[in-house]
Amino acid sequence: MRWRILYFMRVVQKFGGTSVADAERIRHVAGQVAGRVGAGDEVVVVVSAMGNRTDELIDLALEVSPDPDPRELDQLLATGEHMSAALLAMALHAMEQEAVGLTGSQAGIYSRASHGSGRIQRIDADRIEEELRAGRIPIVAGFQGVTEEADYVTLGRGASDLTAVALGVALGADRCETYKDVEGVYTADPRIVPAARRLADVHYEEMLEMATQGSQVMHNRAVEVAATNELPILVASSMVDGPGTLIHGGSEMEERNRVRGVVDDHDIAKVTLRHVPDRRGIAAQIFEPLAEAGVSVDTIVQNASERNLTDLTFTLARGDLRRAAGLMDDICEAIGADGYTADTNLGKVSIVGAGIQTEPGYAARMFRALADAEVNIDLITTSEIRITCIVHEDHMGQAVNALHTAFGLDDPDRV
Ligand code: ADP
Ligand code: ASP
Ligand code: MG
Repeated sequence: MRWRILYFMRVVQKFGGTSVADAERIRHVAGQVAGRVGAGDEVVVVVSAMGNRTDELIDLALEVSPDPDPRELDQLLATGEHMSAALLAMALHAMEQEAVGLTGSQAGIYSRASHGSGRIQRIDADRIEEELRAGRIPIVAGFQGVTEEADYVTLGRGASDLTAVALGVALGADRCETYKDVEGVYTADPRIVPAARRLADVHYEEMLEMATQGSQVMHNRAVEVAATNELPILVASSMVDGPGTLIHGGSEMEERNRVRGVVDDHDIAKVTLRHVPDRRGIAAQIFEPLAEAGVSVDTIVQNASERNLTDLTFTLARGDLRRAAGLMDDICEAIGADGYTADTNLGKVSIVGAGIQTEPGYAARMFRALADAEVNIDLITTSEIRITCIVHEDHMGQAVNALHTAFGLDDPDRV
C-alpha cells in the first residue's frame, strides 16, 4: 500500500459584489463553498454587499439628507454586507450545509472610529473558531468593524478585501482567495485595455503600488496587511474556473517583463496655488491644515522660484476637493499667495514593475509612447518601481493602451 499525505488548507474565501449580485449567483457561490468544504478544506467566507448595493444605499441616504451623519451612514452601509452574509448562509443551509452568517461585530472585528474610513484595530476570532469547531461555515460581512462602544465603522470603499486578509492573518489561514468578476490581476484593467493579459503571479510590492495608484482590483490596505504578514492572496473568478493570479512575496527569474502592469486612475483633482512666496515653512503652512481636515494629498510639485515667487501644485482624490477648496482661501491669505485654481478633468496613468528601478530608459520610453499617442503630460512623479503621468482625462484610454503596447504587454509570451 502507498501512503499519501493529505494536506487540508485553512482558507478565507472572499466573494465580491458581482459574485453575490443576485439569488442565482449566491446559490452558485454556496455550491462553490460547499464543494471546497466537501473536499476537506476549512473555509471561512467573507462577502461584499450585493451588486451595487453600497452605492444604492449612499444614494438613498443622500435622498433623505444632503449631508448624512457619518455614524448613521456607516450604520446603513454595514447592512449591505449583513444581507449577503445571511443570504449566503441560507443558500448553504438549502444544500444541507451548516453555516452561520455573522456581522462584523459578531465576527469580533474591532476598529477605530473614523466613520467611512475605519482601521481594523484587532480581531477577536473566538466566535469564528467556535463555529468552525462546531462544523459550521462562518460567513462574515466584509467592509466593517465595530468600535469598543459597539458602533459600526466601515473600512473604506472596496475594503471587504481587507476584511478577508485581516481575518486570514488572525486565523492563521494558509491563504486568502478573492473571487471577482475578472479571472485574476491583469496587465491593465481589461475593461479599458482589450489586449490586457492575466498575470500568473505578482509580488506584494508591485500589487501594492498598482492598488495605491488606483487599480480597483485589490484594496491597497489588504495588500499591505498581506505583505506584512506574508499571507498569499489568490485573485480568481467566481464564474470561470481558472488558475487566477497569486499575489505573494516569492522570487523568480530575471527574464520576465520588467513592467508588470499599466494602471489608470480617474479619481484625480489638481489644485495649483499661484505666486506662493518662496520662504521657509510655506509648505507646512499649506499642508498642515489640509492634513488636519483629513485631506490626503497625492502628488506635490513645486516649481523653481522666480523672483522669490513659485507655483505649487498638488493632486488629491476628487471627493476631497470640496473639503480642500473650503480651506484654500484661508491658506492663500495666510501665506500671501495670489490665489488658486482647481481642475478635475484629469487622470493618472502609471507603469509598475519591480524591475524598472535597475534598468535605465523606462521614463524616456514612457514619455515617447505618450507623445506618439498625442497625449500631453501635465505632471510626472516616480517611485522606485513606478512612473506616473497625470494627463487630461479625455486622453486616458489612448494613454493606457499606448503604454500597454509600448512595454510589450500585448504579447502573451512576454507577460
Ligand atoms: P470585487 O467584486 O471583488 O469588489 P472589484 O469590482 O473591486 O472586485 O474589482 C474587479 C474589477 O477591477 C474588474 O471588473 C476590473 O474592471 C477592475 N480592474 C482594474 N484594474 C485591473 C487589473 N489590473 N486586473 C484586473 N481587473 C482590474
Ligand atoms: N460594499 C463595499 C463597497 O462597495 C465594500 C466592498 O465591496 O468591498 O465599497
Ligand atoms: Mg472591490
